[in-house]
Amino acid sequence: MKNLTLANIAKACGGVYHGPENKKDIQVSSITTDSRQIQPEGLFVPIAGERVDGHTFIPQVMEKGALATLSERPLEGAQYPYIQVQSSLQAVKDIAEFYLKQLGIPVVGITGSVGKTSTKEMIASVLKEKYKTLKTQGNFNNELGLPLTVFRLREDDQIAVLEMGISDFGEMTRLAKIARPDTCVITNIGTCHLEFLGNRDGVLKAKTEIFQYVNPDGHIVLNGDDDKLCTVKEYHGIKPVFFGMDQGLPVYADEVKSLGLKGMSCRIHMGEESFPVKIPMPGQHMIYNALAAAAVGRIYGLTIPQICQGIESYESISGRFHMIDTEKYLIVDDCYNANPMSMKASLDVLKDADGRKVAILGDMGELGEDEIALHEGVGSHAAKCGIDLLICCGSLSGYMAQKAKQDNPSLDVIYEPDREALLSKIGSYVKEGDTILVKASHFMHFEELVNKLQKV
Ligand code: ATP
Ligand code: MG
Repeated sequence: MKNLTLANIAKACGGVYHGPENKKDIQVSSITTDSRQIQPEGLFVPIAGERVDGHTFIPQVMEKGALATLSERPLEGAQYPYIQVQSSLQAVKDIAEFYLKQLGIPVVGITGSVGKTSTKEMIASVLKEKYKTLKTQGNFNNELGLPLTVFRLREDDQIAVLEMGISDFGEMTRLAKIARPDTCVITNIGTCHLEFLGNRDGVLKAKTEIFQYVNPDGHIVLNGDDDKLCTVKEYHGIKPVFFGMDQGLPVYADEVKSLGLKGMSCRIHMGEESFPVKIPMPGQHMIYNALAAAAVGRIYGLTIPQICQGIESYESISGRFHMIDTEKYLIVDDCYNANPMSMKASLDVLKDADGRKVAILGDMGELGEDEIALHEGVGSHAAKCGIDLLICCGSLSGYMAQKAKQDNPSLDVIYEPDREALLSKIGSYVKEGDTILVKASHFMHFEELVNKLQKV
């Protein structure tokens, strides 16, 4: 890993090197916090978790051929090099910041309330048409996930697409200091993490902390249809590039057509140029993700055919509107996460489905004091969006069910507070030919419902 010698690593994280002098200038081959993934000549970072303390694996990883380890305490009698640090968690952030600087490649940082992973995937899908692109794997977007992503970069990577997720003030500043994005993208300002951020203005403030570390010659790419983001005029001379559906925006889409569950088509306009494109994922929100990717593609000099090819080759990821066609049903696995905005977006897509449209919705977490009203809001939306059966599960989802029935008494609504009970009865609620949307916050573990539905 470029310039990651033990001496430089110790310097970058303010640690103290212990070990033979002649090993100080060897570069590590990789960095991991997972003892099972240690590689020859790699660096091990032991993290003290709630259940397991990574320090207990140090002898094991050294035996497997690691070059060295970090440690938060002295390692008496160690026969191998180690770097003593105050906090392993802080050290990984410092080392990642140093490493990214050594590589000197452009970084695209993506944040926002909803759609970060999907937008990240879309942007990477576009950039890969021209560059060797490394993207965050899955959802590794926090203060540990971001450094671990950075450590996956190698010298032949040409651009990094990094997802950055936060739930409190100050976190984005710390993430942005590591990533120092050349381009930052904010998807929207929603109602997630209100427990810590108070209201949407708080969310805006917390997300835009990213601007402090944007390269002064860099770019800020924002959703111009978001009523909070469109108030950002400039940051230290950087004027945002806005995208959205409004024709006055520099990057916009029109001729939007739904292709049912097969996806969407639209025409994207950028300055003088415009092109038609098919997005292989349903939902109006995917147009926004494609627009963000087109804007970023343009910034990095991709041609229109490259941008188009990148958008059209987007691949969906499990848990995020991922379609599973069993012999009996079409299951829409959207159970990775949920909040009011994404619940409504997914319900809107379901209405284009063939057959009976069934939505199995569960509780949404971290909504703060408005949680009841926000669940009722989803219920209201479900009542009028043309679905045939609404199944609600979880304690807060009772409010969703009640409101849906109140707003649309002819809608079939089933309320099952307990997930285990729902799991055992689900086969009797659904019918062959149904299209079934499964969505809730992660803690509801609705992936179990998705698994069950594939068997009943
Ligand atoms: P997390 O905070 O868990 O990292 P995220 O911001 O990465 O979430 P995604 O995982 O990309 O969000 O998307 C979650 C769901 O939100 C998707 O399954 C989809 O239903 C919906 N979604 C995706 N993109 C958008 C968007 N731009 N606007 C609104 N909803 C979106
Ligand atoms: Mg994500």
